[in-house]
Amino acid sequence: MQYVSRSEWGARSPKGVTTISNSNGMFVHYTADPAPSGVDAEKSTVKAIQNFHMDGRGWRDIAYSWLVGQSGKIYEGRGWGVAGGHTAGYNSSSHAVCWLGGPDNVPTQAALQSINVVIAEHNARFGAGYVKGHGEVNSTSCPGSRLQAWINAGRPVDASPPSPPPIPDIPEETEMQQVILRDSNNAYWLVQGVTKVHIPSSEHLSILLYLGVKNQSQGDSTKLLETLGELPTRQSEQVLLRDNVGAIWLCKDNTKVHVPSVDHLALLLYLGVKDATNGDSTKLLETLGTIEV
Ligand SMILES: [Zn+2]
Repeated sequence: MQYVSRSEWGARSPKGVTTISNSNGMFVHYTADPAPSGVDAEKSTVKAIQNFHMDGRGWRDIAYSWLVGQSGKIYEGRGWGVAGGHTAGYNSSSHAVCWLGGPDNVPTQAALQSINVVIAEHNARFGAGYVKGHGEVNSTSCPGSRLQAWINAGRPVDASPPSPPPIPDIPEETEMQQVILRDSNNAYWLVQGVTKVHIPSSEHLSILLYLGVKNQSQGDSTKLLETLGELPTRQSEQVLLRDNVGAIWLCKDNTKVHVPSVDHLALLLYLGVKDATNGDSTKLLETLGTIEV
């Protein structure tokens, strides 16, 4: 997992949040301190930066939207759609990524690739914008000569850059894994691919956690669930769904077959067909549209 959520690095709650809906670009910063080595040290550094910004500076939260370590890990700062404290004059109209390193360090290819991943994600969300070093608009040596030269050169990386994931919390390689997400009403959902099933009780939730289902209900998961939005009809496996008059259907791809009795239903469940008749399955069925029965 490339992204490290606030809960995963032990963030404190912000003292306040100002949301922004537009962003004209991204600023690249550095800490100017020696680069921490290893993910544990990077997490400690991010926590220390947050403490300094909140207690030493009196700011509401860590200043940056995102931070990137030499490991290539991407640490969630204020995240997307939140005004920052990173670049004077631009905090409500841009986002920022900060590299955990200083003048004596050379950014790793993994770090550079991850900075590009964050910028690609910004552009996917807000439209293509500028990418500037902090020192291009404020009087500072940040983000250092190496990163500024890299920006000026068009941000190349030696290895072929990774294709930016459209949804940061579900990288492509884990897209089909089941994960637990929480929506804006604090309801929990079991999500796999483009299907989601409501988790009706805390007992169900604890069983799923016991079974090892990844809990991504922290951090940006609300946004992730919102991005599932209109469910595409991409379905490869058979699944049981209920329509808005309560009829049960066996669905696969663009076909559906009515399940005529509870005996049939029990047989299908016995055969291991996925039961998605709870929660939002009605909507899922509606997206299948006009179907040959
Ligand atoms: Zn800076």
